Amino acid sequence: MAAALAIAVYQLLPDNAWWTAGWQMGIGYAGAAAILIGARRLPRRERLPWWLFAAGIAANVTGIGVSVYSDEVLGWSDIPTLADPFFLLLYPFCALGIAVLIRRRETGRNWTAMVDATTITTGFGLLAWVYVIAPSAEGGHMTMLGEATQVAYPIGDLVMIAMMTRLLRGGGRRGAPFWWVTGSLAAFLIGDTVWVVMGNLIDQGYPVEDILWLNRAIESIFLVAFTLFGVGALHRDVRSLGAPAGTDVARLGRAHLVLLTAASLIAPALLAVQVVHGEVHNGMAIVVGSAALFLLVVTRMAQLVREVERQAQQVRELSRQDDLTGLPNRRAWNDELPRALENARRDGRPVSVALLDLDHFKHFNDTYGHPAGDRLLKSASAAWHGNLRAVDTLARWGGEEFVALLPGADAAEARDVLERALRATPLGQTFSAGLAVWDGVETSEELLERADAALYRAKSNGRSQVSDAANRPATAAATK
Ligand code: GH3
Ligand code: MG
Ligand code: MG
Repeated sequence: MAAALAIAVYQLLPDNAWWTAGWQMGIGYAGAAAILIGARRLPRRERLPWWLFAAGIAANVTGIGVSVYSDEVLGWSDIPTLADPFFLLLYPFCALGIAVLIRRRETGRNWTAMVDATTITTGFGLLAWVYVIAPSAEGGHMTMLGEATQVAYPIGDLVMIAMMTRLLRGGGRRGAPFWWVTGSLAAFLIGDTVWVVMGNLIDQGYPVEDILWLNRAIESIFLVAFTLFGVGALHRDVRSLGAPAGTDVARLGRAHLVLLTAASLIAPALLAVQVVHGEVHNGMAIVVGSAALFLLVVTRMAQLVREVERQAQQVRELSRQDDLTGLPNRRAWNDELPRALENARRDGRPVSVALLDLDHFKHFNDTYGHPAGDRLLKSASAAWHGNLRAVDTLARWGGEEFVALLPGADAAEARDVLERALRATPLGQTFSAGLAVWDGVETSEELLERADAALYRAKSNGRSQVSDAANRPATAAATK
């Protein structure tokens, strides 16, 4: 509130360099102080980024005073001025601060966010090159150091754009402080851009620097930036900014998509503008820029396609797996069985199928509780699976019923395997099983029906046993 009032009053200050600079510095230092106060509330090892931000802003604010001093007292207004190093320090300090934050927020590399940040930076970099960097290098009315200084500002802005998009496209929580801080950085960027536009207007002979309220308004953008940063740092949820992302992933929202699209279209747009003006000045820069952007877009596309393929594979696997036991589920089984029968037909080898059903499982549940029942399903299925042969498949049919596929096994061999599994059932529990050997012509359903009938018999004969299925009635086999 106080800061908003101070910024409002600033518009009305008398046109005196000392007054205005003092007012600006007051607001700026207040912002830096707010950041330090916010940092003090954090645990010691989380303070570093905030110290960096405070240092960057304090340096920038100091630049305002130095600028007035060198202008008014020393009469030194050539570029670079004494103030430029102070102004410029904002960029490395803030970039470093954001880098530290990103490292805290994210574990591991985030290539998607990296590609997005590079795309946007490349687009705006090309823009900056064509309109700011290349012209100021061509000027020729300045010393080398002066040119380097002038170019340092847009480069600093580009670094900030890169870090900001990286932060925005990365994972991590986005509480209020996140938006205050990104808002502040955005205000710095807007301020710098307006500054460049003003410079161009002045170069073209529009005396915009004489419009008092306009200057005040532009300077106020920076005051807003100082203030927003301070507000963000003082927010009670400030820790969230450096909190590890966990599983939060930044979604590609509409705004991001628009920004990415705009950045990718900057190169052709620049070319179009220059063609319309009848002269292409920056052909090579535009070529390099568009090539880089194409490559980035293709990289992004490849990342997306790979991600989609990975997820499709994951969904496929999940849809064929039983949640509780991790065994193949009925869907997977239904695909597997006809294939196994087909293989058996081709190889002329036997194939056996068994239906397994835990004995008195309802009683087990009632006695020890449902969770204990779940644990038994898990441990029992693991024990059985461990006692089957490597070529065998165990699937969960549903509830406490399982189904085993034993390729190459005749009735005797399959019975051996199943009785071994029966003895391995944990917690003194047992199962009953119905075992059917494929007769070479019946369908999967008919085979399972016979195994089911055998299971029923195993149950009625006293459980804890493997019962062989009866052959299909001869007439039924003959009519098939
Ligand atoms: P039987 O010896 O005749 O097979 O008796 P049973 O009690 O094992 O058979 P019944 O079909 O009467 O009961 C099966 C029980 O299995 C009933 C159901 O609550 C329980 N059940 C089914 N699925 C699950 C599961 O995923 N977890 C647990 N804990 N219980 C399950
Ligand atoms: Mg049952
Ligand atoms: Mg049962």
